[in-house]
Amino acid sequence: MTTLLISDLHLHPGAPEITEGFLHWLDEHARGCDALYILGDFFEAWIGDDLLDLVDHDPTGNAALAARIAAALKRLADSGAAIYLMHGNRDFLLGERFAKEAGATLLPDPSVIMLDNERVLLMHGDSLCTRDEAYQAFRAQARHPLWQEQILSMPIQERIALARQLREQSGEANSNKAEDIMDVTPGEVVKVMAEHGVTTLIHGHTHRPTVHELEVEGQPAKRYVLGDWQPEQGWEIVIEEGGEPRLQAFSLS
Ligand code: MN
Repeated sequence: MTTLLISDLHLHPGAPEITEGFLHWLDEHARGCDALYILGDFFEAWIGDDLLDLVDHDPTGNAALAARIAAALKRLADSGAAIYLMHGNRDFLLGERFAKEAGATLLPDPSVIMLDNERVLLMHGDSLCTRDEAYQAFRAQARHPLWQEQILSMPIQERIALARQLREQSGEANSNKAEDIMDVTPGEVVKVMAEHGVTTLIHGHTHRPTVHELEVEGQPAKRYVLGDWQPEQGWEIVIEEGGEPRLQAFSLS
């Protein structure tokens, strides 16, 4: 029984090394795993599953990339792996159509899964960054079904422009934010772990890969943070039957 977890690949046509590295990782490394969890920000941006209609006429290359990734995931799913996709703050509009083409199941954030009879909490991680109040206000709006419905009813070219604008705004806003508000709030982590009755949490989002030891209701606990993928390096967590989660970086070249 092997479970793999990855996050924050931020796939986009401008980073072909990451796309190729991921496809290679899927074929060479993930093949034979029992489950693969992708914990958000898999794509740098996602404007709606109808992007898949544009495969042959999208000069940006986003549609072709999405179709290629879906097909590769589907091959892994067809070989017997269960694939789960959680939304991140970049790709929260990823929907059932993409999931179906990829042979994957959309996983709510947060989700508790059972691994070796132990409850493990999975999150993207952005909801833990409660000190970034401006972002949390946007998140509350953007996760609302009515807001999403309104956005998805816009013509696709307008959505592409909106996504670009949101990314630029987020880049500008983040460059003005203190380092600590971009990270998780320690008290929020403990609270959320206690609420879910877990001593293991795995998330991404912050791009600060490490394993934190902490205490939750008097019990020793661990918070595993996945890293973001770069053109030369990827990050994964591997959990083998009976073993502890193993956070590791690997070369993509
Ligand atoms: Mn994120």
